[in-house]
Amino acid sequence: MDRIEVNGRSYDRPEEPTVVVCFDGCDPRYLDAAKKDNVAPFMTEELLGFCATSAMPSFTNPNNVSIVTGARASIHGISGNYFCDIENDREVMMNSPEFLRCGTILAAQAAEGVSVAVITAKEKLMKLLGHGLPSSAVCRAIETGGSETWLPATSPNMYGPDSTLAVFDSGIRLLKERSPELIYLSTTDYMQHTYAPEAPEALAFYASIDERLRMLHGMGARLVVTADHGMNCKSRGNGELAAVWLKGLLEREGVVGHIVLPISDPHVKHHGALGGLGHIYLADDKADQIACVLRGIEGIERVMGKAEAANELALPFDRIGDLVVIADANHVVGTRPTEHDLAALDGALRSHGGFAETRVPFLVNRSVSKEHEISGLWNFDV
Ligand SMILES: [Zn+2]
Repeated sequence: MDRIEVNGRSYDRPEEPTVVVCFDGCDPRYLDAAKKDNVAPFMTEELLGFCATSAMPSFTNPNNVSIVTGARASIHGISGNYFCDIENDREVMMNSPEFLRCGTILAAQAAEGVSVAVITAKEKLMKLLGHGLPSSAVCRAIETGGSETWLPATSPNMYGPDSTLAVFDSGIRLLKERSPELIYLSTTDYMQHTYAPEAPEALAFYASIDERLRMLHGMGARLVVTADHGMNCKSRGNGELAAVWLKGLLEREGVVGHIVLPISDPHVKHHGALGGLGHIYLADDKADQIACVLRGIEGIERVMGKAEAANELALPFDRIGDLVVIADANHVVGTRPTEHDLAALDGALRSHGGFAETRVPFLVNRSVSKEHEISGLWNFDV
């Protein structure tokens, strides 16, 4: 049978029901903790587990889009939740398909007659993931719900485990009722933002996910479970936030600039719009001066010029700043304290976005080609 070509790669039609899960924020350390306490034996013992790398920036939307396109952001165009439109001096949200620069594997499979279903926790991803799908395909967000019998009767709370569990439960019911050939499930990372791997809440959450993955396996589904990014603690031992404030720094240097934090989204309760990567757009040619100052600041891992970042991180040149600032494992970057809703954070900050959060699991319930085992996996090599 002919393979399906998408963005320079080719894919088989699913020969058995295939479920690809983007387990949002599943740092491998959650699986390590679950394994130690033996609360998720299916994920940690029975599935074949590999280490994979998520694409920079290690944020949700760019990596979900990488997984469904099999491509880096330089190809698909989604470099974060926002970019700065310099000509019109405004921040532009990139969560609608007009910003996508290539087609998806899901749409290409659907165009070949494969029955495709997408279920996401958050509405912000639904339009991107559903781009190009025919009306016969399923594309629903748990957040907004729908009248279908396989969806929850009422929308579960986004700030807790229920939203993610509802993604799995809806997928299981849908597989039973309509048996689509290809299902993409995308969860939310509230639990990982809120609880450390060894916290009882996190362990109970992983036990619940484990049961659901085992059910999908029992129903004969071919499973691929990966993640969009990992997660690190960004508060010091005394609970103080470990942030580098970029606006204050520009002001101290007397430089005019605009800062875009691509993690910003309508659901900020779990991260306060603080992540591991920020863009600085500069009015004047002061990139070298600011980069030099930033490199001397504790908590900054890399400062990259625009061309360097576009090349090395495979990012779209027109949707990144003059400087791309990347925090280390223990820090985040922000604008200034008063511009972040810090009071809304539940306890210590846990977040992602930098190199330190690009290690993700890649779990399968079928064998993987030798080439993948040897060459190192990306999370979008599904
Ligand atoms: Zn995420």
